[in-house]
Amino acid sequence: MSEKLIANAGMKQLSTGDLFRKNISENTPLGIEAKTYMNEGKYVPDSVTNGMVKDYLADNHENQIFDGYPRTNAQAVALDEMLKDINSQIDKVLLLNVDSKVLHDRLTGRLICPKCKRSYHKVTRKPQVEGVCDFDNEALTTRPDDAPEKISVRIKEYTDLTEPLIEFYKAQNKLVAIDCNGLSSDEMYEKISEAMA
Ligand code: AMP
Repeated sequence: MSEKLIANAGMKQLSTGDLFRKNISENTPLGIEAKTYMNEGKYVPDSVTNGMVKDYLADNHENQIFDGYPRTNAQAVALDEMLKDINSQIDKVLLLNVDSKVLHDRLTGRLICPKCKRSYHKVTRKPQVEGVCDFDNEALTTRPDDAPEKISVRIKEYTDLTEPLIEFYKAQNKLVAIDCNGLSSDEMYEKISEAMA
């Protein structure tokens, strides 16, 4: 979804998950620390995550989509502060609602291109050639934390630590909730574009 927003609406994306995975593949100290948490489906500590985002924001903050960040109250408070320091702010926060069964099917069938990060699905969004990315011919992979037993840990982390942010952003009048159940990816894109206008 965000690939389309980047291509069509001139947005940039910061995915903290992708940034952690990049650090893991390059074996950096940050990646080595993050890996132990990520492979268990747990959140990486706030101090590590916020530090990484702060470094990123030094060079980028206009037209920015944050994907997978903030995920905790401490991150949301830190992000507001970091943006204030560079005379910027969050405009909107999108809450994409999907049923837990849909979410589970999506994660257990997910395939990722390690190069361009596009995601596919074993059943609902197959690549043209099985196991190969349509855009760069890379072999598709699965994520270690998409294993069923890791998914339940991730959902618990979300419920305990991220769900409370709904109230945080409602109080700031920034939250736009979108019911994504039953929507095709084009329909979702339409709704997201409307919400961001
Ligand atoms: P994602 O690619 O967004 O699904 O994130 C994959 C994993 O990276 C999460 O399950 C966490 O272990 C870690 N991660 C990504 N973003 C954050 C964040 N904002 N705070 C803590 N951990 C994160």
